[in-house]
Amino acid sequence: MEPFVYSSAPSRVIFGFGCLGQLPAEIARLNLNAPLLFTTPEQAAEADRLAASLSGSNVNVTVAGKFTKAIMHTPIHITEEALQFARSSQADCIVSIGGGSTIGLGKAISIRTGLPHICIPTTYAGSEMTPILGETTEGRKTTRSDPKILPGTVLYDVDLTLSLPAALSATSGVNAIAHAVEALYSKNTNPIINLLAVEGISALADSLPHVVEDPTAQTDIGRRARERALYGAWLCGHCLGSVGMGLHHKLCHTLGGSFNLPHAETHTVVLPHALSYNAPALKKETLVKIANALPDSDGNAVIGLNVLLTRLQVKRGLKEFGMKEEDVDKAADIACQAQYPNPRGLEREKIREVIRRCWAGEEAKTDL
Ligand code: NAD
Repeated sequence: MEPFVYSSAPSRVIFGFGCLGQLPAEIARLNLNAPLLFTTPEQAAEADRLAASLSGSNVNVTVAGKFTKAIMHTPIHITEEALQFARSSQADCIVSIGGGSTIGLGKAISIRTGLPHICIPTTYAGSEMTPILGETTEGRKTTRSDPKILPGTVLYDVDLTLSLPAALSATSGVNAIAHAVEALYSKNTNPIINLLAVEGISALADSLPHVVEDPTAQTDIGRRARERALYGAWLCGHCLGSVGMGLHHKLCHTLGGSFNLPHAETHTVVLPHALSYNAPALKKETLVKIANALPDSDGNAVIGLNVLLTRLQVKRGLKEFGMKEEDVDKAADIACQAQYPNPRGLEREKIREVIRRCWAGEEAKTDL
């Protein structure tokens, strides 16, 4: 075993079907009583339901307001509007209910105001488990990390994921798997994170095909799958929040930021190719751990990911999301500019080939 540093996330996690009902008690436990609710326009009805249930609860909670304009990539103009709204309210805490976009806005307001942040995630993206905030100003995304950004309490209510469409469930789940895969070969990985990463990959890889088959959990198998997928997403999110990420996350950041590609879908396309690039530089035991966590991998981690993506029937090419072939070179240039720890050094022509394969939607091979 190599020497390591492990920082346990201070977040309190409440998990299970229907656990949203514990929110009033949780707010009271924190000696708070005036939550400001955040979500996206698409999930405004969810915020309405939450406000109604908080008002009807038997603890002393008064909803201070609802802000339902969260969008992808936390653009600064939305943050400024939300900040003004928060300052003009009597809020003493923030409750964000939604995916990474909503939680990003909650983090942005929490760090600016000092208001405590309670998260209710409804996708598998994992932002609720990280001290990281990405924000966009004039089309440029910058990321910062601060322990104060990490939300204090997270309620994982499985019921709230039943409305997540099958396609987004699949890609969001693979987005989560990517956190765990990169955590296993992170420069600052550690034995605890290794355990969580393997368990997280395995929980998601087992459950996602059943989630896609029965997204609204009409059957017992579907219900168990939704539960296991959210559990896996929590563990993978914890990996993302605990150790540094490598080529896969940097590539997705570049592709998403520069070519306006959708977050979860881009992660899904890139993951097998990024792993295939890094594979020759990884310890054999790391690859074995990933392969063993993926059903029908035949002992090969890249094959395991290919099998999973085929089962999930996800789109495999970035061109399907509007990326142009001439962007491949541009993306390779940007991806090779930044220097960051990655198991394998960045070789411009090979990185270009990774991006070309992602663009074309080719199946990942093990020959890079
Ligand atoms: P998202 O939050 O943008 O959600 C996508 C859409 O699905 C939205 O319209 C949303 O309202 C809707 N939705 C979410 N949950 C739903 C549900 N259960 N039922 C029905 N509709 C639902 O997508 P995402 O992939 O969760 O988040 C992506 C964003 O999060 C990106 O901006 C990314 O950079 C950020 N992110 C940040 C971190 C971090 O640590 N800072 C980690 C992961 C993602």
